[in-house]
Amino acid sequence: MPREPLVPARRIVIRRVVPVNCRHATRLLSEAQERELSLSELASLKFHTAMCVGCRNFGRQIQTLRKISRAYTLGAGMEEPEKTEGRSGDGDS
Ligand SMILES: [Zn+2]
Repeated sequence: MPREPLVPARRIVIRRVVPVNCRHATRLLSEAQERELSLSELASLKFHTAMCVGCRNFGRQIQTLRKISRAYTLGAGMEEPEKTEGRSGDGDS
């Protein structure tokens, strides 16, 4: 009985992983918000962000900013904070 691979083999060919510097990586992170990156761009970016905490943080921040700005434009989740009732209540002590 032939053993089947746990993960089906896929033919994804990444021609080359071009090393990117921080400037290029942050540009790719920005562009990823607007368009789908190619596989080689994605591989280069993953390779860089695996090693660079600065660019990883930038990637997280840009995603958060995108979510916030999207929520703002949709008007979702931007309700006024709940007003806390004054504590000068009817204490009978
Ligand atoms: Zn970097």
